[in-house]
Formats: sequence, C-alpha cells, structure tokens
Amino acid sequence: MSGRDGRFAPSPSGPLHLGNLRTALLAWLFARKAEARFLLRVEDLDPGRSRREHEERQLHDLAAIGLDWDGPVERQSERRDRHREALAQLEAEGRVYPCWCTRAEIREAASAAHGPLPEGAYPGTCRRLTAAQRAEREASGRPPALRLDAGAERIAFEDRLHGQVEAVVDDLVLWRNDGTPAYNLAVVVDDGDQGIGEVVRGDDLLDTTPRQLLLQRLLGLPHPSYAHVPLVLGPDGRRLAKRHGAVTLADLQEQRGWEPADARAWIARSLGLARDDEPAEALTPALLEARFSVRGLPREPTVFSG
Ligand code: GLU
Repeated sequence: MSGRDGRFAPSPSGPLHLGNLRTALLAWLFARKAEARFLLRVEDLDPGRSRREHEERQLHDLAAIGLDWDGPVERQSERRDRHREALAQLEAEGRVYPCWCTRAEIREAASAAHGPLPEGAYPGTCRRLTAAQRAEREASGRPPALRLDAGAERIAFEDRLHGQVEAVVDDLVLWRNDGTPAYNLAVVVDDGDQGIGEVVRGDDLLDTTPRQLLLQRLLGLPHPSYAHVPLVLGPDGRRLAKRHGAVTLADLQEQRGWEPADARAWIARSLGLARDDEPAEALTPALLEARFSVRGLPREPTVFSG
C-alpha cells in the first residue's frame, strides 16, 4: 500500500466511451507513476441501471487499452453492510434525518432559498418539520430518503489540477428512498476501506468533493488527495455521450476500424503524451507512464469530433 493508491470506479450502466477510458488511463497513470496500487471498483448501486454485462464489457475494454489493476474488482453492491454501518455511525451522532421532499419540491424550495448554500442545494426543509408535520408525512406511507444534517459548513480543499476549491455543503442524501445507499456515502466508505490515497476522476464530480470531505471527517476516515481531470466533449461542446456517434471501443472498431491501440493513441495525443506521427502500437502504457507528468496535463477539455 502507498499513500498514492488510486482507483477507477465506473458505474456499469453502459459501455465506457472514449472520455471514460481517458479518465481511467489518467487514474492508472497517476497511480503507476507513483508506484502505487491501482484498484477497480464497480459502482453498481443503482439497481435499475446497473447490468452485469456492462460491467464485463467495461473490464474487458479497460484491459483492451492496456490497463492492469491490483487485487480483485470490488463491487459496491456487495458492501451494503459497511454502508449501513457508516449510516448508523452518523445516526448515533444525531446527524441524520428523514426527508420526504419530491424532486419538484426541492427545486421549488431551492430557488426560493437565500443564504450561503450553493444554487440548487437542498435548503433543509424536512430538518425543520414540526412533530405534527413529520407525523403527517410518516402517515403518507411514502418512504423517506435519509439526509445528513451538514450544518451548512464551508469546506475547502486543494485539488491537484484546480487548486483551491471551496463550497458550503448542503444536507446531502445518505440513503435513497428506494433503500439503496447514496453515491456520496458509498464512495467515501469504499475509498476509505480500500485505502485510496489519491482520487483521480472527471471534473464533473468536482462539486461533490466538499461533501465527501465532510463525510470523511464525520466518519473518522482519512482524506485522500484529489485530482479532477478535464473531460472529453462532443463537437456540440457537451460531455461526450452515446448520441455523439461512435464513441465506444466496439463502435470505433466496427465503424472506423480502430483497434484498442488506436483509441489509446487518440487519448495519448489528446493528453499531449504523443505526437501525431508516432504509430499507435508504439504508444504502450509503459511509454505513456514514462512521459506522464501532472504538471504537463492539459487543463481544458478536449473535443472528440468523431
Ligand atoms: N461511479 C462514478 C461515475 O461513474 C464515479 C465515482 C468517482 O470516481 O468518485 O461517474
């Protein structure tokens, strides 16, 4: 184990696209460059969207672009007991309350709210219910979500790419009303248990990190360091997705004749780790590792124009 142990934690809700593969390669490069372990965790919490066949395809594609990982792949759905324990720990500290708000109610309340919370944050409606209001909601039979009483704390951290980041944390959901642990709780418990020292992930998750830091502190878990890496966008400037055409390894192979090494070469060039005139087969993971430096990483998103 090393203080720089890293991980990639995909949700098995579909095949990985070039953007996901690029984030995975980056997470691998950060860890391997630090001579640390690189772990894989399948974030299959959402029973409606997670599929075993997507998981298998994702692992296959990660190996196809030349990534390797240490130890067995962990599945978040098999760690429910640990997630429950963490929830119980927060409950014992009086930091958990039930919330019956619907999405529409939250949107409405959030837009009317003033104060230190970021835009769209949950304003704490159910934290302030009277006993009668609570009884009324309990009687409705609709199961509540469970939220953290976050105390509107301002949390700051130093991201390896973004520098100083700070935000006021709202009362985030810990346990969803469908009975599954929420992402922020599970990710914090699992990163802690797996001994992750450095989290490398897409910068679309930058906003969630202050929440995760607060949870780590409340649960007595160590704080990893964070590097939020720029995303790959489609030609319309939006985050790369299936609608942008051939973006998965299978589609790139079928429609453009790309081998996995060609996809890796595109990723390497997009990161400034390879020149256009270098043949794809020469750009092995070991060579990219030798060339990789955090300082040299692009800070802006890359457009994949297909
Ligand atoms: N499972 C999350 C996703 O696929 C990533 C979580 C993380 O890296 O913290 O977006």
